[in-house]
Amino acid sequence: MTSDPHPATGAGATLAEVASASLGCALCKLAETRTQVVFGIGRSDADLMFVGEGPGEQEDLKGEPFVGRAGQLLTQLIEGIGLTRDDVYIANVVKCRPPGNRDPHPEEIEACAPWLDRQLELVRPRVIVTLGNFATKLLLSTKDGITKLRGREFGFSRAGHEAMLIPMYHPSAVLRSGGKALAEARADFVHVKRVLARLA
Ligand code: SF4
Repeated sequence: MTSDPHPATGAGATLAEVASASLGCALCKLAETRTQVVFGIGRSDADLMFVGEGPGEQEDLKGEPFVGRAGQLLTQLIEGIGLTRDDVYIANVVKCRPPGNRDPHPEEIEACAPWLDRQLELVRPRVIVTLGNFATKLLLSTKDGITKLRGREFGFSRAGHEAMLIPMYHPSAVLRSGGKALAEARADFVHVKRVLARLA
């Protein structure tokens, strides 16, 4: 028995075409409660790509990732290394808001992963920053937690595309923890800047 191909597979050859195809996706239960699909935003050929967990309330309403408080912190950290949101690409592991901001379920992550794969394939960033446990575990295929992995460099290779992957705390976790976590996030961004310069 063969299953139907995922809609991301034949969704088009450009990021805009894939984004457009994702808007009607109803492959998991998150489609029932979302306001809209939050595909991703930014430069289609960015050297630096961020992958978070999933849209929150503000993101679900606006249709753009990282626009709430955590997004404001992410923007500040990006600007702290001399870049803007327009210079990077920002996406999430799941494109629809989990109700009440609960964690995404494994079957939702699995259903949504091919959309992220297409984003990685088309943007082809030199550096991927995974924000928090969900993105890190998915893209590194690891069970290790973010506290152990943050700030380290990992080779990422898929379908002929090679990049450096650097896990970081999710900005929401940085907001909750404050002080030391914020200092570590700033240090991780300086590290990202160095890696970008090294790979340029
Ligand atoms: S979370 Fe992903 S797989 Fe689930 S409905 Fe939204 S776009 Fe489709």
